[in-house]
Amino acid sequence: MRVAQARSSTEFLRRTNSILILRALRERGALSHTDIISETGLASATVSAITAELTHAGIIEQSEQHTPGARGRPRVLLQPAQGCGYLVAIAISSDAVQFSLADYSGRLLDRFYESRNQTIKATAPFVSLLRTSLERICERSQITDRQILAISISSKGIVDSARPVLLWSPIFGDGQIDFADVFAQYDNASIILKNETALVAGALGTRLPLGQLGLAVVSLGHNIGLGLVRAVDGETQTLAPNFSHMLHLPNGARCRCGANGCVEAYAGFYAILRTAFEVPKDHIPAQFVPLSEIDRIADSARRGDRMAGFAFRQAGVALGQGLSRLLSLHGRMPIAITGPGTRYYELMRDGLESGLAETHVVRMHGVPEITLVEGEAELVFEGHKASALERIDEHILGK
Ligand SMILES: [Zn+2]
Repeated sequence: MRVAQARSSTEFLRRTNSILILRALRERGALSHTDIISETGLASATVSAITAELTHAGIIEQSEQHTPGARGRPRVLLQPAQGCGYLVAIAISSDAVQFSLADYSGRLLDRFYESRNQTIKATAPFVSLLRTSLERICERSQITDRQILAISISSKGIVDSARPVLLWSPIFGDGQIDFADVFAQYDNASIILKNETALVAGALGTRLPLGQLGLAVVSLGHNIGLGLVRAVDGETQTLAPNFSHMLHLPNGARCRCGANGCVEAYAGFYAILRTAFEVPKDHIPAQFVPLSEIDRIADSARRGDRMAGFAFRQAGVALGQGLSRLLSLHGRMPIAITGPGTRYYELMRDGLESGLAETHVVRMHGVPEITLVEGEAELVFEGHKASALERIDEHILGK
């Protein structure tokens, strides 16, 4: 028993140290033996043993660096091996799907977009689009199915916490997609599915100042997304509660999810359009509203149009009240706002702050810090890379 325990803890330590070294090589590029020691804080003998093992397994490789004019032996550098494995990130949004290919060092190698017909709710045409796009990625970069070690997918909506199954989404409604089935032919790959805003929260979470316990990320667009990062016992947890379809007003406006009075039925782009044009609240004016249309409503609001101004303010109130409930349950934490809707923030701000102010936690401690964060798409990709590379490390070291 004791021998088995000692063996398993040695094994655990070896894995943890290997992961530290792989991460350092990915983040810093090629490193010498001495660089790895200073980056990881590991002992020289440990670094030697692990890098020898990883080199033997073909996961990392050596190169020599000659310094012009310098005497003596060239510096030996270590780096992730070319072609040892790849990850594919698939970001699904209302009107398009973005496919990205990256290598094991996280470097972007290829990217393309496929537009989607927004009126098609059936999942079958979408599944075949995904499969042919994956084949296209492999073909364009001349890689085999077996070299793909992770396929990481993101979508708005509700994802199963244990399996890569999309349970409900604004695009397909109740039409569920099991991505393990979709990509069954890539039998060397881990299939990962995450809520899009949870990925953004995960990426922003790595930049949190030390000691900050949490962050709520709200994404404003056609849909409303929410991701939450919390530090629990030194571990970072990322959650995606069903914020957008939380009740805002009983017997309220019709929502795309089929319920009435959801936060999104007041704060999503279609809701802003509905209020601005005084469309009856039991009617959904459009499944997808182009950004240019919301820009026009925002311009009217800025010029003093009463209904347009009210539409944005009402969106702000729904978000503020929703966030006040979130803070009451999870404690006060800073809020980051991202997505295409950030450009209308000044029109929603008063409403949002007044919605927040109605709660005890905010009355006690004041309005939390609110920051606008640009570059949502890049943060989504960063989140994909972080979770996929972590899985690839586990996969490689588990062999
Ligand atoms: Zn809803």
